[in-house]
Amino acid sequence: MEIKGKKISILGAVRSGIAAAKLAHTNDAIPFVSDLGDSEELKASCSVLNELNIEYELGKHSERVYNCDFIVTSPGIPTHASVIRTALEKGIKIISEIEFASWFCKGQIIAITGTNGKTTTTSMCAHVINSSGLKCYVAGNIGLPFSEIVMEVKEDEFVALEISSFQLDFIDEFKPKYSVVLNITPDHLDRYENRFDLYIKSKMRIGENQKSGDFFIYNGDDENIPVGMISDEVNLLAFSLDKGLANGSFIDEGWIVYAHKGEFEEICNVTQISLKGEHNLMNALAVINVTKNLGIENEIIKDSLNTFSGVEHRLEFVREIDGINFINDSKATNVDSVWYALRSFKNPIFLILGGKDKGNDYSKIKEVVKKRVKKIYAIGSSANKIRDFFNPVTKVEIVNTLDDAVRKGMQEAVSGETVLLSPACASFDMFKNYEDRGEKFKIAVNNL
Ligand code: ADP
Repeated sequence: MEIKGKKISILGAVRSGIAAAKLAHTNDAIPFVSDLGDSEELKASCSVLNELNIEYELGKHSERVYNCDFIVTSPGIPTHASVIRTALEKGIKIISEIEFASWFCKGQIIAITGTNGKTTTTSMCAHVINSSGLKCYVAGNIGLPFSEIVMEVKEDEFVALEISSFQLDFIDEFKPKYSVVLNITPDHLDRYENRFDLYIKSKMRIGENQKSGDFFIYNGDDENIPVGMISDEVNLLAFSLDKGLANGSFIDEGWIVYAHKGEFEEICNVTQISLKGEHNLMNALAVINVTKNLGIENEIIKDSLNTFSGVEHRLEFVREIDGINFINDSKATNVDSVWYALRSFKNPIFLILGGKDKGNDYSKIKEVVKKRVKKIYAIGSSANKIRDFFNPVTKVEIVNTLDDAVRKGMQEAVSGETVLLSPACASFDMFKNYEDRGEKFKIAVNNL
């Protein structure tokens, strides 16, 4: 796409906005960056713009924003923000940062979305590809912004992109060679007028520009994924824990099988997947569907799935003390991911649950809590709601701090049991973010 001389307004002066401005500058366009915030952090992040003589404003979105050929928006800007509404009213085209970056991508894009599992699957996918000797970058919501790395990517290279629905809300021509939808469950509905159908539509946009020769890879067990929305030309490739498939990957009596036009190959045994839990098996199946189609040998796929060490704060093993395992799953910010976490451990669990509630409906985990959780330590602003809901099924104790929960877990659990932080809530009531919560958990465990 030729952008030479084009005026581009970029909303958001954090990582992806700055990267988009640099990308526009490199390609001889005229970027202008605008952010409502004016914190010291933002000022620091804009210093690179000074060096490149890129114009910007902090603390406001002035009229200057609308003086442009198009707008590039960052994932943090709400779709209903007044600057977006005004721009749309003025008929200005708005695109997301991944759309913009994709115009410059010479390599093949593997775009991965879903309510849960994006980061894990994106990293796992890149790990398998890189283990095969091919080169795969990781970008998007994890790692570096797509705009930051896109000019480096060569024709025979790959980019595994973690894509949130926010990025998909403003795509136009974004066309991955491989798109992956891991699952769709209600989350972030505040951004979609509390409408699940709008959230589903947004996620499905990942495949809207795909054509023949492209692959749409999806969870065949998830009825919320409306595969019918994808063009007939596209290769549809499912994965499933529950059923055999003629095309795609599935589990058969403990073996992971890849099927292509009715021919079956065993890739490995489920016990050879390094990460615990059914959810990680699904993530691995999705990765197999991508990497088999890149022509990577089964042996390499098997070995690399076996050596993948996982991502921090996702069912991360922290320490074993006197036979008690401490697990950090701070990234479990919704009920669905806690469901999978609880099913990943056979031994009794002491569960640390709570934080800032996002309108959680805990009924989905009621049964599994009853079966597997010996006691809940409820923390944060949702502690009372958690106590009221779970009191009939297991013991619940409200504790003041994460440190207290860890100490109590150590006192009350016995050898062979697990203390699991899998909070189902956002962290902002007590912590900076989920990483901060996970770090504090690990510090508390390491202080025991
Ligand atoms: P995302 O990037 O989509 O937030 P992560 O890989 O960071 O996903 O994982 C977020 C949480 O969801 C973690 O608690 C993790 O254990 C859990 N999780 C990972 N993969 C899946 C999956 N396929 N289905 C449900 N939960 C998952």
